Amino acid sequence: MSKRDYYDVLGVSRQSDAAEIKSAYRKLAIKYHPDKNPDNAEAEEKFKEAAEAYEILSNPEKKARYDQFGHAGNSAGFGGAGGGMNMDDIFSQFGDIFGGGNPFESFFGGGGGSRSGRRVQKGTNLRIKVKLTLEEIAKGVEKKVKVNKQIVCHTCDGSGAKDKASFHTCKTCGGAGSVRRVTNTILGQMQTTSTCPTCNGEGVEITAKCTTCKGDGLERGEETIAINIPAGVSEGMQLSMSGKGNAAPRGGIPGDLIILVEEVPHESLKRDGINVIYDLYINFADAALGTSVEVPTIDGKAKIKIDPGTQGGKILRLKGKGIPEVNSYHKGDQLIYVNIWTPKAISSEERDILEKLKSSANFKPQPGKSEKSFFERIKEYFE
Ligand SMILES: [Zn+2]
Ligand SMILES: [Zn+2]
Repeated sequence: MSKRDYYDVLGVSRQSDAAEIKSAYRKLAIKYHPDKNPDNAEAEEKFKEAAEAYEILSNPEKKARYDQFGHAGNSAGFGGAGGGMNMDDIFSQFGDIFGGGNPFESFFGGGGGSRSGRRVQKGTNLRIKVKLTLEEIAKGVEKKVKVNKQIVCHTCDGSGAKDKASFHTCKTCGGAGSVRRVTNTILGQMQTTSTCPTCNGEGVEITAKCTTCKGDGLERGEETIAINIPAGVSEGMQLSMSGKGNAAPRGGIPGDLIILVEEVPHESLKRDGINVIYDLYINFADAALGTSVEVPTIDGKAKIKIDPGTQGGKILRLKGKGIPEVNSYHKGDQLIYVNIWTPKAISSEERDILEKLKSSANFKPQPGKSEKSFFERIKEYFE
């Protein structure tokens, strides 16, 4: 099934600012909330679809990638989660939308209490740089990177407690992370929900802290992460792998790993977008007589033919020997610029030969109508 455009899903324009996007999502989240639409698969789909759209459009990095690459920009190829959020992800998002706590408990009488009331902490994002050669960029590559980061504490398994006996469900809120208060008003009884003051919304109480992590459930460690780099990425592009950043305190949701792409310059090939450029130099004898030369490409050497009478400035093309577009089958070409090498120093013998050739009628430049101008050549190859 092809995904709908995220802006269409939320019913906002591409120019909408963060506040408009947030407000549009709020409305849809309330409309399609499962507590309001029990056993309605269609509403659930709509609810998830809206949450996914908001997840992308509310994050400036993900939004920029979406605007540039569409759905592919945040797909598995980019190391993203590949879309598809589960209900827990969606409910944990509500903290930002509704300003703390989950409004649905009070809206709908707390149907989804324990599922959504508990405060889940999120780990911080981790940024790393990955250096890639032109060959790796052309084919895509899996990079194994050792990352120093916050990991789950081995001693307490992330709970933050010294032992089982010192880890309890919070007595104040019964593990829900929130408490309900009923107040009498002139309109009758009003029920409000707020974060549990005892456990600060976490739903658990720790009576003795783990001595290794001092209670936050984290320690410093290393993790080797396999990063799947799709073909066609370029300098400065950012990829993200959700959940591969720093672990979160006490079993929360880990942050993301943000990967910044750096290109290592190639010794003889230059990249120009999806094309690869090579500057070829031949001497004017070869240009006049024709020859065959070997040129480097991103998949090894290639033999190319130089026709007799080739002019300097000609551009040859090796089709499909360039860089693919990210998440596309479209591939660039290798362009070969033919430069005629003019000797910088010559012997007296060479001078004699050249002096003789100079006056020969064939050596007088005589560009005809069929000769393309420099500007035409450039235009033809780059359009
Ligand atoms: Zn509590
Ligand atoms: Zn610990």
